[in-house]
Amino acid sequence: MSIAENIRRVEESVAKAALRAGRCEDSVRIMGVSKFFSREAVDVAREAGLRLFGESRVQEAESKFDFLKLAEREGKYRDFELRLIGSLQRNKAKKAVELFDGIDSIDRLELIECLGGLTASRIKPLNVLLELNSGEEQKGGFRGEDELRRAVERVLEFGGLKLCGLMTVAPLSNNTQVARNAFRSLFSVKEKLALEFGAEYFFEVSMGMSGDYEIAIEEGATLVRIGTAIFGERV
Ligand SMILES: *Cc1c(COP(=O)(O)O)cnc(C)c1O
Repeated sequence: MSIAENIRRVEESVAKAALRAGRCEDSVRIMGVSKFFSREAVDVAREAGLRLFGESRVQEAESKFDFLKLAEREGKYRDFELRLIGSLQRNKAKKAVELFDGIDSIDRLELIECLGGLTASRIKPLNVLLELNSGEEQKGGFRGEDELRRAVERVLEFGGLKLCGLMTVAPLSNNTQVARNAFRSLFSVKEKLALEFGAEYFFEVSMGMSGDYEIAIEEGATLVRIGTAIFGERV
């Protein structure tokens, strides 16, 4: 299977899952997760129509997506978005805010302060998602509704940050109910916070990866992050 064929296949199952859930087909966007894959693979995926990419590491993304900055400097229009989906260390934050259109993996208060400081003088704010930890000890993310609420309050204090919603990674399990429960709780926290703070800060729900994206869509995902099912196994 080629990358282009994989993209078509994923698009079809995304549309089917959305319809099954009584949702509109275009209410779910596909992010191509290109970590570990080459610039060439990204080019093929772009040719095939993918417009949103996610990377886990700043350095890897920087070398692969250097053409983005070039295009920007030359004032070229780009209908293309790159977001960070992995944990961000403080010493890479400056690079990250220059390179990424959004940071989808905000996992601690310290990072909010750091990014808020770095983006204070921006005209176009940096899009951010707050990550909820879905129960795996070694993984990042805010734990529970109260921690998330404090994070929301903090983000809203910074004019350079634009809160767009929430993200989570479901715990690894053979039991699909485990992922479903994780997605369901993210969606329900999202609903609560949207009522409290305003729906305009919570339009994005990023959940679901190659193994569980159809479940995520049934539970309300607006964005699914697909690596393996598009680019193949990471070796
Ligand atoms: C790697 C990664 C993905 C993609 O995982 P696949 O199972 O290959 O689709 C999605 N989200 C995050 C946060 C990741 O790190």
